[in-house]
Parts: sequence; C-alpha cells; structure tokens
Amino acid sequence: YHAKQRGERYCVFESHLGARVGERLRMAARLARALEADGLSLYFQPQVDLASGRLVGAEALCRWFDEELGAVSPAEFIPLAEERGLINRLGAWVIDAGCRQLAEWRTRGLGFSGRLALNVSSAQFDDDQLPTLLLEALARHGVPAERLALELTESGFMNDPDHAVAMTRRLKEAGLALHIDDFGTGYSSLAYLKRFAADKIKIDISFVREMLSDPNDSAIVTTIIAMADSLGLSALAEGVETQAQAEALLALGCPEGQGYLYAPPLPAAAFVRDWLAPGADA
Ligand code: C2E
Ligand code: MG
Ligand code: MG
Ligand code: MG
Repeated sequence: YHAKQRGERYCVFESHLGARVGERLRMAARLARALEADGLSLYFQPQVDLASGRLVGAEALCRWFDEELGAVSPAEFIPLAEERGLINRLGAWVIDAGCRQLAEWRTRGLGFSGRLALNVSSAQFDDDQLPTLLLEALARHGVPAERLALELTESGFMNDPDHAVAMTRRLKEAGLALHIDDFGTGYSSLAYLKRFAADKIKIDISFVREMLSDPNDSAIVTTIIAMADSLGLSALAEGVETQAQAEALLALGCPEGQGYLYAPPLPAAAFVRDWLAPGADA
C-alpha cells in the first residue's frame, strides 16, 4: 500500500513536470511565431535627472502580448528566449524597433536628446556580430549612435572578461554608451569595472526598495554611489517609487533615477504625450 502510494505520487509529480516542460515548449513556439509576425512591442520608461525631474533618457522594455497566453512578463520570456536559442533574434528585433522609434521621434520633431537604453543579454554581448548589427540598424534608420545606450548586467561582462573589454571598446568607439544594469547583484570585480569603461551604473532596485528602512541597503547604495563617483561613472537608481527615496538618493549624490515615482514603462504614444510632446515638460 505504501509503495503504491509512493508510486502514485511519483506519477503525479512526473506528469506535472511533463506538463510544465510542454507548457514551456509551447510558449517558446508561440514566442518564435510572435518574432516572425512582429508580435512584440517596446514600452518606454523615462530616466530622469533627480534634481530637476527632467528627462535624460529612456529605457526600452520588451512586451509580449499573446492571444492565448495574455501578457507574458519579460522576466519569463527573456530567460525562455535565452534557453531556446531565440535571444539573438529577439535582440535584433529590439535593436531595430528601438532605432525605428528614435527615427520616428526625430522625423516628428520631438526633441529626444537623451539616449534610448536597450537591454542586451549576455548571449548577445558574446556575439561578435553585435556591433555590426547595431551600426547597420542605426544606419538603416538614420539615427546617430549617440542616441543609444546598451544595458548589460554584470554577468554579461564577467562571462568572458577579455572579450567583453574588446567588445566594450568597439561599441564605445562607435559612439554608443554602456550602462551596467542591476548593479550590486552580480559578481563583477572592481578591477574589471575600470577596464570596461562603462558610462553608467544602474543601482539595482532591490537596494533602493529598502534603503530608507534597512541600514545595510542604505550602506550599499551609499557605497555604490561613492564608487561610481570615484571611477568617473554616472549613477542611476532603479525602482524609485517615493519622493523620500528620490531625496535621499539626491543627498547621497546620485544624479539620476527611474521608477514608478516618475512613470511606469509606457506605450510609445503615452511616452510621447507625457514626456516628449511640446509642453510635456511644463
Ligand atoms: P531591467 O532591465 O532591470 O528593467 C527594470 C525592470 O523594473 C522593468 O521590469 C521595469 O518595468 C521595472 N520597474 C521600473 N520601475 C520600477 C519601480 O519603480 N518599481 C518596480 N517594482 N519595478 C520597476 P520588466 O519590464 O518586467 O523587465 C524585467 C526584465 O526583463 C528587465 O529588467 C530586463 O532584464 C529584461 N528585459 C526587458 N526587456 C528586455 C529586452 O528587450 N531585452 C533583454 N535582453 N531583456 C529585457
Ligand atoms: Mg535594464
Ligand atoms: Mg535593472
Ligand atoms: Mg533586471
């Protein structure tokens, strides 16, 4: 009886696992189709100067709405794309869509003078074709490289540091900026941080969230800002949700922020209306 019960449990467990794998495969197939059918979109989240609240840039965040699955979070479909070998295609789509959007804003005379930051997975960063892909997309849409930044996490740099240093140099020479995403959650070494010549460090949301209540988080934020400053890097705090956080960050010398206090990621039309259209600044 006992063995049978265990056997049954095992079966239940196995079929549950099987269902989960099947679900992921189905999702990956639908994602591949969405990539072919232009079924993804980009949202735009403002990045602001904390002192004035003015727009200094924006982050492009990928969105996928599937007819059957509904809105799938990038926290789910980006890792899936990485696993299933779709990330380079997805990344190429993001690069093209980002450049196309910049070109459209320019054509419409909307003054976007900051950089649009595109998230780049480490698999993309490891690909020697990345600079060519970026430069071709910029040229195709007639957008200068000075309008783009790439956001890469520490692991993206640390997979293969020598390759990353060379890649960084090529991208920076071409005029792109490099931002280190989710800083403080990875394992980058300070020595490499200097060699990478990144432009900006994005302080991870997890430290900002509790910085006013948890002395450890406050100490980490303080240290990251001081370190960025002494390495000549800019700093941007992610996930700024309250005025109190913004003020504390400013007092610590963090020049820039991004978060729900200012705006969530917005569809292009809302981003233009609230942040780019003449008078949006008033
Ligand atoms: P990330 O690059 O660190 O992006 C920041 C995430 O924080 C976004 O989640 C954004 O919506 C969210 N966020 C912004 N402000 C706040 C705030 O004040 N409070 C809170 N709680 N959250 C805030 P999202 O859009 O779900 O993206 C999740 C992750 O998916 C991104 O983290 C990035 O790693 C990845 N991702 C998104 N789009 C792309 C893409 O085009 N390519 C690649 N490779 N990864 C992407
Ligand atoms: Mg990012
Ligand atoms: Mg981040
Ligand atoms: Mg992240």
